[in-house]
Amino acid sequence: SQRLPTDLNALVDQSLRLAYQGLRTKDKDFNAELETQLDAALPQVPAVSQDLGRVLINLFTNAFHAVQQRQRQAADPAYQPQVSVSTRAVPGGAEIRVRDNGVGIADSIKAKIFQPFFTTKAVGEGTGLGLSLSHDIVTTGHGGTLTVESQEGQGTEFVLRLPA
Ligand code: ADP
Ligand code: MG
Repeated sequence: SQRLPTDLNALVDQSLRLAYQGLRTKDKDFNAELETQLDAALPQVPAVSQDLGRVLINLFTNAFHAVQQRQRQAADPAYQPQVSVSTRAVPGGAEIRVRDNGVGIADSIKAKIFQPFFTTKAVGEGTGLGLSLSHDIVTTGHGGTLTVESQEGQGTEFVLRLPA
């Protein structure tokens, strides 16, 4: 479908709320601190907003699962789940960062997370398709990049870049 000039800040905001509500529908006790830092000078980028919305919802849902999992391990009673999202203008486009202080990703599986059907979640909780689909939407669909940095046991940050 056709790409149209898109306000990523609004899409981020909307997707974050949808993902958080989705999580809380399944787990009424789920709580995470949400932090958003949206660049008011962010350029509009050509995007299929439904596709990009799915990418964002998947990134946020993964982040919520990661903090939920760390909380359930309950090693530290003072643990405070946090999910942060920021946008900023970068040369040639826009950048979105989704960060969590969840379980993190082991080095041994980092190379696999973008592969279709790779999941560490229980049957029925994850299909392992989210990141593979997201990567395809961002790269093939929008000419952008989707990368990850993570420290096992500390948290994860996904960086999404889109050309203006
Ligand atoms: P699913 O969420 O259905 O498992 P995804 O493709 O969205 O499939 O993610 C694949 C795997 O990547 C997850 O099962 C998990 O192991 C890992 N992963 C993705 N995002 C995160 C994150 N924010 N923190 C920790 N692990 C993650
Ligand atoms: Mg997922």
